[in-house]
Amino acid sequence: MTKYLAKIGLEMHCEMSETNTKVFSAARNSYSESPNTNVRPLDMGFPGTLPVVNKEAVRLALMASMILNCQQPEYIYFERKNYYYPDMPKNFQITQETKPIPVGIYGKVLYECDGEIKEVRVNNIHLEEDAASLDHFYATSNIDYNRAGVPLLELVTEPDIHSAKEAVAFLEHMRSVYQYAGISEADSKKGQIRCDVNVSLMDASADEKDPRNWGVRAEIKNINSFGGVRDAINYEIERQTEILNNGGEVEQETRRWDEESGTTIRMRSKVDAIDYKYFVEPNIPKYKVTKEWLDEIKASIPELAMDRKKKYIEEYGLSPYDAGVLVKEKDISDYFEKCVALNIDVKQAANWVSVNVIGELNKENISIKDFYLIPEMLKQITDAINSGTLSSKQAKEVFFKAIEEKKEPKNYISKENAQISDRDELTKIICEILDNSSTQIEQYKSGRDNIFDYFVGQVMKNTRGKANPVITKEILHAELDKR
Ligand code: ADP
Ligand code: MG
Repeated sequence: MTKYLAKIGLEMHCEMSETNTKVFSAARNSYSESPNTNVRPLDMGFPGTLPVVNKEAVRLALMASMILNCQQPEYIYFERKNYYYPDMPKNFQITQETKPIPVGIYGKVLYECDGEIKEVRVNNIHLEEDAASLDHFYATSNIDYNRAGVPLLELVTEPDIHSAKEAVAFLEHMRSVYQYAGISEADSKKGQIRCDVNVSLMDASADEKDPRNWGVRAEIKNINSFGGVRDAINYEIERQTEILNNGGEVEQETRRWDEESGTTIRMRSKVDAIDYKYFVEPNIPKYKVTKEWLDEIKASIPELAMDRKKKYIEEYGLSPYDAGVLVKEKDISDYFEKCVALNIDVKQAANWVSVNVIGELNKENISIKDFYLIPEMLKQITDAINSGTLSSKQAKEVFFKAIEEKKEPKNYISKENAQISDRDELTKIICEILDNSSTQIEQYKSGRDNIFDYFVGQVMKNTRGKANPVITKEILHAELDKR
């Protein structure tokens, strides 16, 4: 039986959520609005309307192109992809797929999978407009034009990915790039990321670099979750392996992922592919991309996850694992950086964020934006720990109580139930106990070490558990030595 190597190429669509308006109209680009409220005549395809290119969308698209190490074009222009569908009332989509040089070509991405650095070549990244969204119900379908015209980046990779695991790691890397660069929230729960996945199998002993050795691919359209991408790839590898093992041939076809059955289903053969009659969009003049503008964009690329990770390891002394946990989501990394800016000890902040904060977010399934306990409040807790007012156990209790009752931690940090760390106060309590324990002191002196715990217990009883245990033991040892 031949051993196969899977070749996987991705077409990753990401809605750019961080522009104020849509890519060719002045309608707001906003996700959280009632349906059909962010719509201008252009988005509805009214005759006589003209597109105006959103410069910020082009700027961010060029920034993405730079981050992916692509070449940028000399001119920006667009073309029409003609088709009829209810989600596209103009009857064409404005894109950059065939004739115009897209915002980026021939780049490469390095990403990490299982601790190994992998490389994927980028064929191109282009800017286009999203279609409206359709929701299908039992007897009706609803259409929401809020999404029509939202700027969309399509990233097309070469088939350099070899497994479902690598594909997901690559997508997670790209999501992080889009988030850190301020291009998109890249939230798949909001449908902002959608993927077409191309899968083929080749003889594992042949030269992978020579495209003539590649197998015939199936393209699986429009998968909207990373889990879906993973499962669809695994299913497709299995399906094609079986065909090949039985001496059959894989057909070049377009399939779709069916979440419910966990299978891919044939839609159409690639042979009768639709002819979209592309031509250059005549209503958008060519726009010259100057070197000055490109330099300006380059200089404005924000710190990305990899930069922050390096900083956390080299400057903050965190372990690569901890640094990785903290940079995985930009919002969490921002929270951590805020803690550091507030002068919480770096290691202490890292520990609280990666264990308690992330733990709580996962438990409640919320994002850190909706998390009650902001860094300023975490500082109230860490300050109280460091001054000896709270034991670490008490600190955790305060943390959870504050979140649960939505009250600032300082409300639970009072002198009254604070830990007693004052040496004079503790010495006084301890001496009183020892003065009344002559029998136990004798037993202790005669070698019964466990009596020591009895004394600690007495101090705790006397202080209702508030005595600082470390200091208590220190003073106890000193006082017992004196007797
Ligand atoms: P189309 O427009 O028909 O989808 P493209 O040439 O634009 O075709 O390729 C789309 C995607 O298919 C790219 O991501 C590319 O890497 C991938 N691809 C091309 N050939 C193969 C193959 N033999 N196996 C897997 N993926 C492939
Ligand atoms: Mg395709």
